[in-house]
Amino acid sequence: MKTHFTLESGGTIPSVGLGTWQLEGEDGHEAILYALKNGYRMIDAAYAYNNQKTVGLAIKESCVPREEIFIIDKLANTWHTAAEECLELTLKALGVDYLDCWLMHWPSPLNHKGNDKKTPKLADGSIDFEKEWTYVDTWREMIRIQKKFSTKVRSIGVANFGIKELENIITKTGVKPEINQVELHPANNQQNLFDYCKKMEIQLVAYSPLGSIGSPLLQSEDLNDIAEKRGISVAQLILSWGVGSGWPVLPRSKSPERLSANLTLVSLTSTEIAKITSIGLAHKQRFIQAPWHDFVED
Ligand code: NDP
Repeated sequence: MKTHFTLESGGTIPSVGLGTWQLEGEDGHEAILYALKNGYRMIDAAYAYNNQKTVGLAIKESCVPREEIFIIDKLANTWHTAAEECLELTLKALGVDYLDCWLMHWPSPLNHKGNDKKTPKLADGSIDFEKEWTYVDTWREMIRIQKKFSTKVRSIGVANFGIKELENIITKTGVKPEINQVELHPANNQQNLFDYCKKMEIQLVAYSPLGSIGSPLLQSEDLNDIAEKRGISVAQLILSWGVGSGWPVLPRSKSPERLSANLTLVSLTSTEIAKITSIGLAHKQRFIQAPWHDFVED
């Protein structure tokens, strides 16, 4: 099984990383610590997850050398106009000197001075976007910051971008993101986006690879049948499908057993991969929606 993918810059990214959304408090801390002590070498964090200190503490206590861990963090929506400050707060909370990849969390700049730190709203209840700032401005700013602080930010990327948004930032700045992190699993394989990113040498990375909260994808009887034949769990099958399809996966778990299982993937044949894709697409679904973004299917 492929353990790493090669990025356009020449660096590598592990095939499996730990998602840290909702890994909070003592449970979250223990899960992240267990993951690092038991082989995880990629952590997916975000300012908006409100747990960067927990993540940072686990990284420190794990005693895994910093250079062995690929750390992803994300610029929060309400910080697009204050990106440099958000980066400094992120590094401080994580207790690290640099990020391996810093992503724009969503192409959605929200009012930094609005009535809520995460989801500011206007008086009529609608989302309070920045008025004179677009995600292209944010991308320009991230490019500037990465050039100025290249020792603090090894590479920059985006998340939740479709083809249209990618084309927009690339045409307007001439700079491609190294990574585009999006929802990817058998029920949402984003074939067109994958083909576009492959052509442009942008690495897709799978968030919510198990279908997010409650991992609904694991209920599929058809997928259970294939997993049983291979002698693995459905979660392992779905994650192996992702890596076999061409992208790193970021499963999240609080359970030591499931964390270890999610690292133990298998090589699937192209026939198995195609079968899993067709089973998933028969129940096409996105599980992650946000009030500040309308996904356009590519
Ligand atoms: P996942 O798709 O990783 O699913 C998590 C759920 O699956 C949990 O309920 C977990 O429960 C369960 N689970 C994990 N492993 C197994 C297993 N082997 N068998 C059975 N159940 C299992 O959800 P997320 O939405 O958290 O996505 C992963 C990561 O992606 C996030 O944590 C975050 O880092 C990133 N993400 C990024 C987004 C973005 O906008 N860029 C948006 C959403 C996610 P249990 O803990 O009990 O094992």
